[in-house]
Order: sequence, then structure tokens, then C-alpha cells
Amino acid sequence: YIIKIITKCLPKAMIAGLTTVAEISNGDKQKDSTVLSISFFEESEVIVEEYDCDDTNCQAAGAKLNDRIQQLENLAGIQLFAIPSKLDVNTFMSEVNADIEHVPIFGAGAGIKNYAQEGMYIFGKQVYDRGLVAIFYVGKNLHIQTEYCLGWMPIGKEMEITKTRGNLCIEEIDHKPAISIYQKYLHVDPNEMFVSNTCEFPLVMKRKNVLIARTPLEGRQTGEIIFTSDVRTGEKIRFSYGNTKALLEEAKKSSRKMKDFQTQAMFLFACINREKFLKNDEKQEIEYFKNVCGSVAGCFAYSEILANQDCGGVLNSALVAVGMREGELDENIEELQEEVLEARSPEENSIPLQERLVTFLEAITTELNESNKSLKKLATTDELTGLLNRHRTEQILNYEVNKDYSAGRLSVVMFDIDNFKGINDTYGHEAGDMVLSKLAGCVKQKMREQYLLGRWGGEEFMCILPDTTHEDAIQIAQLICDTVRKNDFDRVGNVTISVGITTAVENDNLQSIYERVDQLLYHAKETGKNRVCAELDEK
Ligand code: GH3
Ligand code: MG
Ligand code: MG
Repeated sequence: YIIKIITKCLPKAMIAGLTTVAEISNGDKQKDSTVLSISFFEESEVIVEEYDCDDTNCQAAGAKLNDRIQQLENLAGIQLFAIPSKLDVNTFMSEVNADIEHVPIFGAGAGIKNYAQEGMYIFGKQVYDRGLVAIFYVGKNLHIQTEYCLGWMPIGKEMEITKTRGNLCIEEIDHKPAISIYQKYLHVDPNEMFVSNTCEFPLVMKRKNVLIARTPLEGRQTGEIIFTSDVRTGEKIRFSYGNTKALLEEAKKSSRKMKDFQTQAMFLFACINREKFLKNDEKQEIEYFKNVCGSVAGCFAYSEILANQDCGGVLNSALVAVGMREGELDENIEELQEEVLEARSPEENSIPLQERLVTFLEAITTELNESNKSLKKLATTDELTGLLNRHRTEQILNYEVNKDYSAGRLSVVMFDIDNFKGINDTYGHEAGDMVLSKLAGCVKQKMREQYLLGRWGGEEFMCILPDTTHEDAIQIAQLICDTVRKNDFDRVGNVTISVGITTAVENDNLQSIYERVDQLLYHAKETGKNRVCAELDEK
């Protein structure tokens, strides 16, 4: 009905829209309303196209979109309205060539207040309950600036999605029913309050180096969690927590960038989860943008879309701001006056409990992450030499030797310092330590990045050479032997090593390859030391 009226009044108007949970009109939030936003361009062109598809054929539809993009000259941006429950918008968008990443794609997934009972719709010339509507903004002088705000911060340990069904359902996390992470950490069970009990703690993951959120839409008795945006097996996720200040701060920063961009029109696509979380402060968030552009229009729904150089597609719990300008920047507009910060009143200095708890959690998480990192390093590194330790070296050798096609292509060099006991006895244990660390340093320096050098034991070292034939390994071993011999070990003077080399054969394993190289090293010692031994019958 509305489409009919608009077409009658404005026959040339391009029409597109979607059902939403709440609306933004002239910078104010509306509920239970229909907002009509009219964008008027002086010289740019707007094209609306419909992609009537679902999960089964959205890839083909995406390919069609890509073809269309290639045809359009001066394309400045694409707005998408989608029905997220019927198709994976990321799969659709994955068909778009990476070389047009400079053209931002933005928009929203349709939403509705009662997800389970009401239908969601998008429209162009017609109304659809599946698929996508794309709006192409074309113009030589049209500039589009996009901003992504999240504000949720990761917390707790990293987990892995180990089982999914389709693109929108996680069955297992760390091999346990997905729901159990919410039961364990938040005591939240899958019931009708699941969404509102979990909304402050979306899951977050890194894609394209940007932190994005996945907010549960439904938790089921079966242990599955349903989302509005794609989730992938193997992806690493963490919980995140919201902090009102951080959320508002990001919005403020983005609104300033919009001001610098001298935006003439603006759209906001926000997640309904922000409204749930921010409550009365949501008004403040939109207000920042309203101050930049009074006529800002937009909506709250379940998923936001933003794909550009930095950001990867369908988002949750986020706010996407889109600014448009026809023509170049006006250099004459005065620089933004930085706001003068006023001293806080004593009352303002009192920090709400929730904020202090969040700060506390944040500090603990940072501390835990740092100590985890250094523990990990300690567990894999030899302290004296800085090389890999025995445990890690064995782990890597085991992995390499069990790879397919390692036979003939994986070589191992093992060496041991000659007469090291004598060095310790003559110059003292400390001098011995100095020799170990200097020797490790000078050998490491000669190694290519893909070679792995570890300390196997006291003065015994192992070098793993993936993708290296026996002949090449002999040369490398010789190089190591020469490097040590020529190195100056301060007052200790010269030091030599004996070296064994072997190359993996069919059905080798950690034990068999180690025994062989150890025997060859022993053979090098027996046959005079300060030499390389690659075969047992060498004299
Ligand atoms: P060979 O030429 O046959 O290898 O004789 P060697 O004296 O080097 O061999 P041996 O294995 O008998 O002696 C190794 C010595 O290395 C014994 C041990 O005290 C010393 N050692 C082991 N680890 C360390 C260490 O971390 N620091 C120092 N300074 N000495 C160590
Ligand atoms: Mg020795
Ligand atoms: Mg030894």
C-alpha cells in the first residue's frame, strides 16, 4: 500500500525498505512506526535491484550482484536489506570480488519485535519474505563514509566452535553442547528468557582483524544456540562484556569522523541488543550522530551489514553509521572545536558499581592473558639459549615426521659439543653456559626461518629441516659445523661440535628417526669428533 502511494506521488523514486524492531527518524528513536526517509541527490543515480533467493541459491545470486557491480562505473556504495533467517548474507557477499573492497557494502537484516511469531519483510518494487534488496549508489562526485562501532570487549578464555549445523547454529563449543558455556559461566539455562539473560555477553571473534560479535537469538534444550549471522566450525570465540562508557565512546568517535567527512546525509543501522543493553543511554548514542546530521534515519534490527577494507560482512551488537556527501570537502568550514572538558563534580566522581565491576573484570582478563602468554613461552622455550626446549622440539619433530610425504623430504641434524666437560672443568660452569648460549646464537643466525632449532639436552642440539633433501641437509650440517668452529668464544677460544644427519624414510616415526640420528652423531664422535656424519659406514 505504501509502495503504491509513493509510486503515485513520486513516479521516479527508487523505493527500498525493511521491517525493523525500532526505527530512527530525524535522529530520534521510534517504536511501532513506519519511517519514510527520502534521500535526494543532485547528480548521483540510485538503482534498486531485488535478489529473490534463499540459502540454497544465494551464492548464484551473489555472483549476479558481482556481475552487476563490475558493470557500474562510479559505484560509490551498495546498501543491502536482507532476510537473515532465510539466507547466509556472508555467503552471498563472498561472491563479490575482493578488488572492489573500496566500495562499501552496508545495511541491515530485517527484524521484527517478536521473532518467532511475526514475519520479516524487505521490499523494492515488491514485498519479499526472503532474499535481498540492493540499492546501488552511483555518482562521480558521491562519497560514502562508513563507520563500525562495537564497544563490547573480549573476556575469559578462548574457546573453539567445534560443531555447527548449517550457517546459523552452533551445536558444540570445545566439543560440549554449546549452551553449556552459558550454563557454566552465567548460570543461564535455555528457556524463554535466554536471549535477555545473555544479551550483555555476546560471543566475539576476529575476522579480517576486526572484532565482531555474535549475539544468540535462541538457546535450545538440545544444547544448540541459534544466531542471525554465520558461525563457522573451527572459529575461535570468546565471551565479551559491555561497558556503557566504552560503547558511547566509540559512537562519539565515529560521529566526529562523520563531522570531519562533512556528511550531508546519514543512515544508522544498529543492533537491538545495543538498545537492550544501553537502555536510556541509547538516546545519547544516537544523539552524537544527530548533532552531526539532523536528518539521520535508520533502524534497529538483529543484524547489521558492513563490508569494506577493514570489516567483514554481517555484524551483531554493532552500530553501523553511513555518511554520504556529493562534492568535495569544503576547506572553508572551520575546524572542529575540541570540547573543553569541565572538571567533574564530586558526584560525577562516584563510579557506579556495574562500571567498577566491569573495570575489575577487564583488569583481571588483561592480567590473565599476559601471564598465559608468558607461560606459553616458558613452556616452549629453553631459558639459557632462547631456543625451543626439548618438549617443543620433540612435538614438532613428531608432527613433521608423521606428515604425509615426509619420506625423503624431512631431514634432521643433531649435534653435540666436543669435550664440553673439559670446558666446564677448565673455565668454570658459567663459561660453559656462555658457550652454550653463544653457540646457539651463532647457529641460529645461519638458519633460514623454516628451520627449527632446539636444545635437546645439556650440550646437545637438534635442527629440524622440513622440505630438505639429504644432500641439502649435509650442506647445512657442514655449514653449522664450520660456523661453530670459526666462532670466537671469548676466553674459551675455539669450540667444535660433532654432527649427525638423517633424512626421513617410509614409516619413520619420532623414535626411529631420533635413534638413527643419535647413532650417526655417536659415530661422528667415535670417528674423531669435529665432523659431520651422514652415513654409518663412513670412516
Ligand atoms: P663429548 O665430546 O664426547 O661429547 O664429551 P663431552 O665432555 O662433551 O660429553 P659429556 O656428555 O660427557 O659431558 C657433557 C657435560 O655437559 C656434562 C655436564 O656437566 C655439562 N652440562 C650439561 N648441561 C650443562 C649446562 O647447562 N651448563 C653447563 N655449563 N654445563 C652443562
Ligand atoms: Mg659433548
Ligand atoms: Mg653430550
